[in-house]
Parts: sequence; structure tokens; C-alpha cells
Amino acid sequence: MGIEHKNKHKKENPDYLGTYGAGPYSSSISKVEKDIKRLVKKIKVISGVKESNTGLLPSNQWDFKSDLIMMAKQRSLSVARCTSIINPYTEEAKYVIKYNRGKMYVVGLGDHVSPIDIDEGMRVGVSKTFQIEMPLPPRIDPVVAMFTVEEKTDITYNDIGGCKEQILKIREVVELPMLHPEKFVRLGIDPPRGVLFYGPPGTGKTLIAKAVANRTDACFIRVVGTELVRRYIGQGPKIVRQIFRMARSKKACIIFFDEVDAIGGARSSNSFSGGNDVQRTMLEIVNQLDGFDARGNIKVLMATNRPDTLDPALMRPGRVDRKVEFGLPDLEGRTQIFKIHARKMNCERGIRLDLLARICPNCTGADISSICTEAGIYAIRARRKFVTERDFIEAVNKVMKGYRKFSATPEYMMFN
Ligand code: ATP
Repeated sequence: MGIEHKNKHKKENPDYLGTYGAGPYSSSISKVEKDIKRLVKKIKVISGVKESNTGLLPSNQWDFKSDLIMMAKQRSLSVARCTSIINPYTEEAKYVIKYNRGKMYVVGLGDHVSPIDIDEGMRVGVSKTFQIEMPLPPRIDPVVAMFTVEEKTDITYNDIGGCKEQILKIREVVELPMLHPEKFVRLGIDPPRGVLFYGPPGTGKTLIAKAVANRTDACFIRVVGTELVRRYIGQGPKIVRQIFRMARSKKACIIFFDEVDAIGGARSSNSFSGGNDVQRTMLEIVNQLDGFDARGNIKVLMATNRPDTLDPALMRPGRVDRKVEFGLPDLEGRTQIFKIHARKMNCERGIRLDLLARICPNCTGADISSICTEAGIYAIRARRKFVTERDFIEAVNKVMKGYRKFSATPEYMMFN
């Protein structure tokens, strides 16, 4: 009897949604919600606000008065150059600035600037009343700004397979002086300013340079030698100067010259060896290498496949005096590289990566990366969502046999 009564109540009352429903008032609530939506829509139509994705507030909520006050408070500044400082670091310090078209003014500091922030020769922002309001970074040519790869790279030493010895050497000469300069000061020695990486293409030279930059929290600037020579004809020395200027403005910076043989080739009277422009670019690099403090925040790394062609001036001790050789990875290295690339992929369980490493001797890291991509393509072709060992083996066959014709490794190995 009790159950019958309950069912009857369910049928008669349309608001009833069961024990776990919204309760007896749900239909009235949804009706009110609908009404609210309708009214909001009506208000928007009346006030002329259209649905937009600009994130602007409705125009009736705009506050022009306070916007004007804010604009008056934060006036735009003009750019000037501080040419000299009179009585520096004292209460009466005055700053000579060079303003628009060579006009000079003697000015003071604004309330929010500290005297230690302003140096001679620096660009500064000045207010309408000619007070220095902020220090500005050096002007960098947009062409040079393009070279900055990353403020902080995301490659770590764990992303590099094999190359144990190389990593150790590089940590010693690049990472240690940047992270613990006091150790060198205590011993009274200067760490190397630059390191040369040489070896066949695709063996992880760029990868290691990026990992060091990440570890030292340094900005990473990558300059490709051929680009300096071909793309910016006649501007090579100027760009090199600006790159070093930009590096000096960073807290810590690693400049990586890739394919340095294009600019650092040995000088000769032969016009085919590069010409005057290339030589001037190389000499500017030599000049800049001499110009910065070895214990400072800049390290220069260079990579080449042809170390035999480099100019001795660039390689002499005191400049790029450390040379690190990159060879083909051994079995353990290859297995590790396979593991690194396979961990980002959706693979079936139990793939024998050591077996794969064994069947592709003389492979570089780049070849292994390409094998993994090919294996993925085979899986896509078979409409699978995961990669099998068979895919990998087919990919090894394809990459090893197919690409052998194009591989430059044997040729480069001759020079090393
Ligand atoms: P090049 O001399 O042509 O500039 P490189 O030696 O600088 O070549 P990288 O750019 O470091 O070569 O490597 C190319 C790609 O090969 C990397 O993006 C990476 O995927 C893979 N690779 C190379 N070596 C390794 C390694 N030791 N561990 C993991 N991946 C590697």
C-alpha cells in the first residue's frame, strides 16, 4: 500500500525528481533561470553590447575618468643616452644626457631609480621634466635578436644518450666556471673562454650545448656560420659585435657558433677560401674572444664537422683552447638514445631496444631519432595507436639501407 502511494505521488507531481533529484522546486528554479537569461539578453540588446570574445566590459561599465588619471600618472618617457656622470655615487651626482639630435642636458635621477643602476654610456628613459626614470637595455639590432634561441632551453643531460665523456668535459670547462667561479679565483687560473665540438653530423653537439645552457640558467644564442656569411653579406663583423654586446647584457649567456668552418676557415690568398668578408667576420670573433673576461658570464661554444680547416688564430690557447671530440655512439649509447626517443612514443610493451641498437651499428643519434619517427609512420600506416617491435625493425631497415646513400658520416670520419 505504501509503495503504491509513493508511485502515485511521482506521477501526479511533475516536480518530483526522485530521492537524488533536484527536489520539488527544480522546475520553478529552471523557469526563473530561463527568465534571467532572457532579461540579460534583452539588457544587452538595449545597451548595444554584442556578444564578443574581446574580453571587454560592457560599455556602461567603462570608467574614462580613472583611465585618464592613470594615463596622466604614467606618462611616456623619451630615450636618451647618459654620456657622463658628475660626482658619481654621491648625493650631488648629476648626469649628462644626450637627447634628441645631439642636445645635451645635465639632469638628476627620478625617485624610483638607484644611482648604481645608471652607468656611463647607458641608454636611459627620461621624463618630460628631464629626470632619469629608468635604465634601458642596449639597443639590439632585430637581426641579432633573431639569433636568440631561448632564454632557457628545455634540454637536460637526461635527454642525451651516450656522450658521457663529452658531458663530463663540458661540465668541467663550461658549467663549473659559470656556477662556481670562486674555485678558479682561489686557484688563480682562468677557465677556458671557448670550447670547440667536432665530429660527424647528428652526434649531439647542439644538444649538449643546449643542455649546458639549461643547467647554468644561461640564455642560449645560436649563430649558424653559413647564415652569417651568406645571408648577411658584408654585415658579419657588425653582427658578431652586436651578438657579444647582447650576451654581455644577459645574466649568463652561451653563444653557440654552429658550422663554424664557414667563418673560421684558415686565411689564405686564395679567393675561394671565403674572401675578405669571411675573414673580417672571423677576426671580429677573435677580437671579441679576447675582449671579455674569462671568468665572466659568457662562454663561447663552437661546432664543426671539419676541424682541420679552422684558422689557428681562432684555436690558439687562450681563445678556443678546449676541443671535445664527438664520435659515433657505442652499443650502450645507442640503446640509451633509443630509450630517450621511445619514451615519448606510445610503444607496445617489451620492445627489445638493446636488440635494435645492436642491428644498427655506425648510426648517429640523428639516425636513431629518424628510425623512431619512421617506426611511428609505419604504425600510422597500419592504423594502429601504438608502435610495435616489427615497426622498429622495418624502420631500421629503411633508414640504414635507404639513407646510407646520403649519409655523410664516413666522409666526415676521414677528417677526425
Ligand atoms: P650538426 O653537426 O649537423 O649540427 P649536431 O651534432 O649538432 O649536428 P644535433 O643537432 O645535436 O646534431 O642532433 C640532431 C638530432 O639528433 C637531435 O635533435 C636529437 O634528436 C638526435 N640526437 C643526436 N645525438 C643524440 C644523443 N646523443 N642523444 C639523443 N638524441 C640525439
